Amino acid sequence: MEEASKTILLIEDEEAHAELVRRAFGGTDSKWEIHHVVNINEALKWLEENESKPPFLIISDYLLPDGTGLDIAKGATSPEEVGIPLIILTAFGSEQLAVRSLKSGAMDYVVKSAEELQELPWTAERVLREWEHIKERRRVEKELERYVRELERANRDLEDFTSTISHDLQAPLRSIQAFIFLLMEDYATLLDETGREYLNKVKEGVERMSVQIEDLLTLSRVGRKFTEVETVDLNELLEEIKTDLSARIEERGGEVVAGKLPTVSTQRVWMKELFMNLIDNGLKFNRSDKPKVEISGKESDKNYLFRVKDNGIGIEEGHLDRIFNLFERVHTSSEYEGTGAGLAICKKIVEELGGDIWVESKPGEGSTFCFTLPNYR
Ligand code: ADP
Repeated sequence: MEEASKTILLIEDEEAHAELVRRAFGGTDSKWEIHHVVNINEALKWLEENESKPPFLIISDYLLPDGTGLDIAKGATSPEEVGIPLIILTAFGSEQLAVRSLKSGAMDYVVKSAEELQELPWTAERVLREWEHIKERRRVEKELERYVRELERANRDLEDFTSTISHDLQAPLRSIQAFIFLLMEDYATLLDETGREYLNKVKEGVERMSVQIEDLLTLSRVGRKFTEVETVDLNELLEEIKTDLSARIEERGGEVVAGKLPTVSTQRVWMKELFMNLIDNGLKFNRSDKPKVEISGKESDKNYLFRVKDNGIGIEEGHLDRIFNLFERVHTSSEYEGTGAGLAICKKIVEELGGDIWVESKPGEGSTFCFTLPNYR
């Protein structure tokens, strides 16, 4: 099948040069069809009239009676913005002009000598090949953007689902808790020892479920419940956390110490949740006579690096990544209460704030939880 000819819009006010271009692209079997206009206005008008069937290529003289060839680009800064590949012709070779043309979205620049003009078809072929690459790249970029949007939407749906389910489960659970309470109050004496034991187990199970649901709700709120970014003096925040954790600290005979911490711009609520979880774990997974959690923070140009170090039981190497998964617990003995959601919440908070979190640890040698936050200053 014969290939349809490809239209070139040629904008050139000097007839001799237009003829040279026509000849360069001519020949009986030429696949090119040249539409020649002599100024910008005519070119714009023609482009408008042929909007549904734009040319494959525009070749334009730089200096024209009513403007410059770059006016075709209408303030574009890249070929994609121009929308049609553009080659600029000029009577003089100037690097400045070449740079200006390329910055205005032209794809190439050709000096208007008889020899150079003869080479134009090859330049045109090359430009069209590049244009295909640009279009392909743009298509892939668009597709990627679409995937990202779809993924974000799916994630949001999942979080909405988690949030709704956890919220809705709370009501029947509260009712179960209330009836268990009534059963224990009014009917415990009618049951034998085994019956009361079973009832106790049901009560414990329901309490555990309630905490898990509460954790799920917290997890789904991270990133959805955007609290205001404020200037937070972490030294002050730590004092507040120590007061909140004072029962645990006293019960364990432990201590929480910190060097001077920076003041950061962040979401205070989540920062508190993060430090609370890490410090609480440091005291909890600890068999030392004197549990100790040390906190330090270092500021660099790009990041803050925080470390929460304990002298606790430590973690085996094979578990270092796993512990950040939801409901994943390594130390499951009844000695350590918990649901296994704390570190998943910490990870989500840090990632939501634009940082990373990891742990360095060896069994029996304590653990150091490290996390970074971007420094926007
Ligand atoms: P939870 O504290 O409810 O068990 P987390 O998500 O906070 O859940 O922690 C997950 C698991 O990681 C814990 O069950 C424990 O096995 C391990 N872990 C967390 N923090 C420490 C720590 N400081 N030292 C040793 N093990 C830890």
